[in-house]
Amino acid sequence: MSSVQLYDTTLRDGSQREGVSFSVVDKLHIAQKLDELGIHYIEGGWPGSNPKDVEFFNKAQNLFLSQSKLVAFGSTRRPNIKAEEDTNLLALASAGVKVATIVGKSSGFQVTQVLETTLDENLNMIADSIRYLKTRGLAVFFDAEHFFDGFESNPDYALRCLKAAEEAGADCLVLCDTNGGTLPSEVTAATEAAKRITAVPLGIHAHNDSELAVANTLAAVSAGVSQVQGTINGYGERCGNANLCSIIPDLKLKVGIDCITDAQLVKLTEVSRYVSEVANLIHDNFLAYVGSSAFGHKGGFHVSAISKWADSYQHIDPAKVGNQPRVLVSELSGKKNIIYKAKELGLDLPLRGKEAQKLLDQVKSLESRGFQYDHAEASFELLVHRAKPDYQPPFELVDFMVVIEKKRRPATRKNLEEMLAEATVKVRVGKEIMHTAAEGNGPVNALDEALRKALLQFYPSLSQVKLVDYKVRILEESTGTESQVRVLIESSDGINEWRTVGSSTNIIEASWLALADSLEYWLLKQKIAH
Ligand SMILES: [Zn+2]
Repeated sequence: MSSVQLYDTTLRDGSQREGVSFSVVDKLHIAQKLDELGIHYIEGGWPGSNPKDVEFFNKAQNLFLSQSKLVAFGSTRRPNIKAEEDTNLLALASAGVKVATIVGKSSGFQVTQVLETTLDENLNMIADSIRYLKTRGLAVFFDAEHFFDGFESNPDYALRCLKAAEEAGADCLVLCDTNGGTLPSEVTAATEAAKRITAVPLGIHAHNDSELAVANTLAAVSAGVSQVQGTINGYGERCGNANLCSIIPDLKLKVGIDCITDAQLVKLTEVSRYVSEVANLIHDNFLAYVGSSAFGHKGGFHVSAISKWADSYQHIDPAKVGNQPRVLVSELSGKKNIIYKAKELGLDLPLRGKEAQKLLDQVKSLESRGFQYDHAEASFELLVHRAKPDYQPPFELVDFMVVIEKKRRPATRKNLEEMLAEATVKVRVGKEIMHTAAEGNGPVNALDEALRKALLQFYPSLSQVKLVDYKVRILEESTGTESQVRVLIESSDGINEWRTVGSSTNIIEASWLALADSLEYWLLKQKIAH
């Protein structure tokens, strides 16, 4: 099978996603990870457009990349000037990289309507810019912007743009579905047409506006492109770019193209999670291959089947992409589910027959009160431990009190009104009872602070544990006059993440239960590790 070069643009196109802003250090860290994954080209940014990217390329000189090549991105020269006078091209040439990608128009309509120049001048801009960068010793990839839309309305001109780039010495012609509206069959036809007129290797750059970026990329590969552009987790402007975390395993495990090694593929899930962490985005559980639910099983019937034959309900062995099967514990679960889940968590417990039934009854009863363990494995694991007669909890909650106050501040203060919360908690550790108080910007924050204050005296290492996400859901299906509130907390110690759940008719109590589970779970893990 033909070979494919992977080109990652997470650091440029990916950072265009709403809510994402990478610092220079973030970008350097991500580049290092992409190299470990075996990405061939890493597009670092647009040095001609912002000083942060210039700084990135300066600092990237000190990166040790075992196989990835750094690429600087820019555009063709502006109309009616010389290439060597274009500041954006000059910045590309002095970015300290060996490869540059320049974007240029390949849609006649875009040239006349948006660029407001002539079709011929655009061809000159493409050729001049590539020639200039080639004389400066760079390999040049040409991103043919709006290629598929251009091919649709004026195929002859779209292909002439590619030809101009080829004649100027471009090393790869990248066909871009810039607006993300092209269908796979159209990608195939246009790619085949491009292939007929040029001998230069082709690439594909697809956006996901029609949820087809991955499909379009695979269609282009089938039609003969050898460079695939995309981003980790599909991050990108609007609906995102083609998702390399899906494309890579698709190519390797389904199409049979060894774009990275088996060992590198095992890092895929880790890299996906790492990039979401750095981007400060919650990792999407439902991502194909790398999401934590990608190999999750909820139905008791499926669980019964996979405990007999692992592949009965999964399309690949999750270990190949560094993911793992996960059995969802829920109301649907049968006894087998509970036993399998406990085994998966590595719990050495007498969960046979009666015990498993008892635990299952307990899970069901808690779920009827609004607890849900699908996404709160840590709370589930605690339940299993608590079922053991000799389980000693690291601490026990005695009681708590929260006072909330809304105060008017003196007129000199910026915020005239301020919410203040103060919590006092009573916690038993061994034979001692700790009584502490703390303030916070809200009741949950105050509770968290007070609980930590009490426990830190016994468990100083608890300071590593941070709350990373807090979700509240009102459960409407509950009976009675008060609605049930479920709180899901995600915590991290910088290495591992875990999720706990609390449920009550009172939001503070629900939070308190989830919070206490989070800390208890971590302390339990520490105890088991030592
Ligand atoms: Zn793009």
